[in-house]
Amino acid sequence: MSNLKLCQGPDCHTYHTQDRLKGTKPNKTFQTRRRSSFYYLGGNACSTRCQDDWFNKFGNQAVNHFGRTTQAKHLTEDNAWQKTYDWDNDYNTRLYVYRNGVTKEQRPLTEDQYNDTNYTINTGE
Ligand SMILES: [Zn+2]
Repeated sequence: MSNLKLCQGPDCHTYHTQDRLKGTKPNKTFQTRRRSSFYYLGGNACSTRCQDDWFNKFGNQAVNHFGRTTQAKHLTEDNAWQKTYDWDNDYNTRLYVYRNGVTKEQRPLTEDQYNDTNYTINTGE
């Protein structure tokens, strides 16, 4: 029991589901869900509904707390390389390329380089 986490959705207990209905007559209540793990809100909410409830209530405070973006970030040509592929003329073979979104330059890429998540030619931050 002690390892169970409570859903952080502020209204979790208000949703009428059988698994939330606990206790015996005449003391039955709908209760916040408890689980050993959750999939939503970084492991803190039982459902997308509870995740959305949390964000609608606390999201603005959270953004202000952890640092609101106040200036546009820039992706320069040094970091605008993205892996992609085209098809050759018979549409059977992938032609892997690095394509720079700023300069529109393309460079050939091997399939191994394409699949290697550590391989990059981006040089900056
Ligand atoms: Zn919940």
